[in-house]
Amino acid sequence: MSFSLELDGDQLEVQRWVHDFAAEVIRPAAHEWDEREETPWPIIEEAARIGLYSVDFLSAAFADPTGLQLALASEELAWGDAGIAVAIFGSTLAVTGILANGTPEQQGEWIPQCFGTPDRPKLAAFAVSEADAGSDVSSLKTRAVYDQAKDEWVLNGTKTWITNGGIADLHVVVASVDPALGSRGQASFVVPEGTPGISQGQKFKKMGLRASHTAEVILDDCRVPGRCLLGGKDRLDERLARAREGKRSASQAALATFEASRPYVAAQAVGIARAAHEYALDYAKVRRQFGRAIVENQAIAFMLADMRTRTDAARLLVWRAAWMAANGKPFAGAEGSQSKLVAGETAVWVTERAIQILGGAGYVRDHPVERWHRDSKIYTIFEGTSEIQRLVIARALSGLHIQ
Ligand SMILES: Cc1cc2nc3c(=O)[nH]c(=O)nc-3n(C[C@H](O)[C@H](O)[C@H](O)COP(=O)(O)OP(=O)(O)OC[C@H]3O[C@@H](n4cnc5c(N)ncnc54)[C@H](O)[C@@H]3O)c2cc1C
Repeated sequence: MSFSLELDGDQLEVQRWVHDFAAEVIRPAAHEWDEREETPWPIIEEAARIGLYSVDFLSAAFADPTGLQLALASEELAWGDAGIAVAIFGSTLAVTGILANGTPEQQGEWIPQCFGTPDRPKLAAFAVSEADAGSDVSSLKTRAVYDQAKDEWVLNGTKTWITNGGIADLHVVVASVDPALGSRGQASFVVPEGTPGISQGQKFKKMGLRASHTAEVILDDCRVPGRCLLGGKDRLDERLARAREGKRSASQAALATFEASRPYVAAQAVGIARAAHEYALDYAKVRRQFGRAIVENQAIAFMLADMRTRTDAARLLVWRAAWMAANGKPFAGAEGSQSKLVAGETAVWVTERAIQILGGAGYVRDHPVERWHRDSKIYTIFEGTSEIQRLVIARALSGLHIQ
């Protein structure tokens, strides 16, 4: 049996294609959209036009038996700009929610609606977090109540920090059906385009990732048809019955989604770190002090060596987790969380070093490294903070419920 870390022809082609888009379309626009703090519609439209923002691209990426294609695309997009990358790929979190919890029929119906068409691209959002339920997703207050007479679910509650929240055409909302069961009493619901009772609350002004829209989502007697419950009513009833009897259940709505998407979010962090290392290396070769290029000082050269080494190490963890996910290997050591933990922390560290290497130039907006540092920080927070990743890893390794 052969083993290789070399990318094959198809993977190299995708990598080059996304890289060219990142270099030619995303990078030149990154500063403008960071300053505007708005969703970069022209870039999403261009991504849709070339087929990068499409259900076909995502299907092909998920079909890659090595699992690397989506990781490669995520890294390249974030190398271009993480804010725009999240604006483009934010919808995939909702897709992952539908894939993790929906029936094949629901996947076929709803996933294409997350993207729309090349002429009219659409956005999707995945709404879990609430003001009092961030890391602790078991304490969600948003309620889903079944109206049997109408075969409808009625959703009420307020979600916060939601990427594409309120501007999305389709929202996937995680709500509690039976609060007494904590996360085991939760289910995911599709709120299709045009549903009354869903609206945007406050839009947040952020430190980084400013081209990506983040807002509250308010659900006020929001009624969705019974078929919008992902997985279906029978499966939910069965799962709730098992939970009430104290038996184990296969998956919990929000957790199943996060576990599947972590390597791809981690790949974005790798993209930021790589961008910052490349930029700092180029700068250090050109910037001269004391009659020599600053890279000729060991202090700077060693920093650059560590930046590259840590970035490559993070990428290897991402590739391992992506390969395991694609090949149905259980994350026995929480390998998805390992990749997210290391990649997020690495991106923060590497971008901070990049600012140091640029000196004063690193601190001003004429150069992108300060933006990359601001962007990197979110990767230690969303999709589970670094502390929560450590908790997941520690629990997986020890088999104990570490607090
Ligand atoms: C830009 C942005 C985009 C986002 N997009 C989405 C989205 O699309 N959908 C969505 O549902 N959510 C989204 N989020 C929410 C994000 O997932 C949460 O912010 C994150 O899970 C952390 O929750 P919290 O902010 O409430 O922090 P808290 O849970 O309040 O944590 C605060 C601190 O306490 C620590 N902590 C908490 N519990 C423990 C523990 N048991 N042990 C040790 N330390 C602990 C945390 O690590 C952290 O350092 C987004 C957030 C941001 C900022």
